[in-house]
Amino acid sequence: MTKHLLPEKGNYYKANLHVHTTISDGSLTPEEIKEEYKNRGYSVVAYTDHEAMVPHKDLDDDEFLAITAVELATNAELTHGAYSYRETCHMNLYAKDPNKTVCAVYSKSRLWPAHAEQYIADEMKEIDFKRTFTPESMNEVIAAANADGFLVSYNHPVWSLNHYPFYSKLKGVWGVEVYNTGCVRSGYPDTVQPLDDLLTLGENVFPLATDDAHGKKDTFWDYFGGWTMIKADKLDYVTIMTALENGDFYSSTGPEIHDLYIEDGILTVKTSPAVSVEVATERRHNRCVRSKDGVPHTEAVFDLKSYIADSEHKLKTDPPAYIRVTVTDAQGNKAYSRAYYVSELQ
Ligand SMILES: [Zn+2]
Ligand SMILES: [Zn+2]
Repeated sequence: MTKHLLPEKGNYYKANLHVHTTISDGSLTPEEIKEEYKNRGYSVVAYTDHEAMVPHKDLDDDEFLAITAVELATNAELTHGAYSYRETCHMNLYAKDPNKTVCAVYSKSRLWPAHAEQYIADEMKEIDFKRTFTPESMNEVIAAANADGFLVSYNHPVWSLNHYPFYSKLKGVWGVEVYNTGCVRSGYPDTVQPLDDLLTLGENVFPLATDDAHGKKDTFWDYFGGWTMIKADKLDYVTIMTALENGDFYSSTGPEIHDLYIEDGILTVKTSPAVSVEVATERRHNRCVRSKDGVPHTEAVFDLKSYIADSEHKLKTDPPAYIRVTVTDAQGNKAYSRAYYVSELQ
């Protein structure tokens, strides 16, 4: 029996899940963001202004959807040394409800810049959810945000100077940025390590490629570098958010994943022209199909029968068994599938 790991039916909708506008420290207005992304084939933008959750339903049309979101930043106390040593933790919250106007973890004492206050809903103005830079405090934010109907992403761990002792304690995160255009182009490329670390710790986190765009139109230096391809029946708020929550998407900086399915332990990956397709797992059982003689290929097939069979012998203390797929094109751009547990492969 064929099991489709990305939905067999539906359309792909291109999304940028991280952007800043003039509401916080971005350079473009929400309307300009819509125009620029829509002109480049995007159907979805999540507006993640710093600390200020501002719905943009007025921007929705038949071909564009604005996701209500916010980015929360929590800096470590500066106790010694230079400012640039300061760790921080940034998380995006994505509202599952299209009518969401109040964020239960809003912190009025953390709102910046000052001009953002004019955009804050009256019902939210007195909320001051306390948070500090500790995994315990971050987990309180994540739990409260999840209970309030948000998906939570863990942003740019490398730029944030985060390491395993901090992020390994996070619970309830939905997505982890493996690519952030602004960070990459300013010299802080993320890696898949935090994603795999959290997966092996039992957190079902999805890989995200985003822009985190702030810049001006003259260069668009931090725009259009990383995106998410969401497969869904229609461009409707709840349908799109449900697809995101379920992991019906892949993230990319270039390549396309056209199909991803498994039949009796044989995994097939159909893509745009690629020079390599890798299957990573939680243990030392990775596989890679490379193009021969420099000619890109568009299909890679992996026999995962022994991986699946061996997974039955793993100890209870071993990490959950999963695979995830990475596609690389001739320019070095990558597409990332989410992780699929062995139970989804049989
Ligand atoms: Zn950030
Ligand atoms: Zn940001």
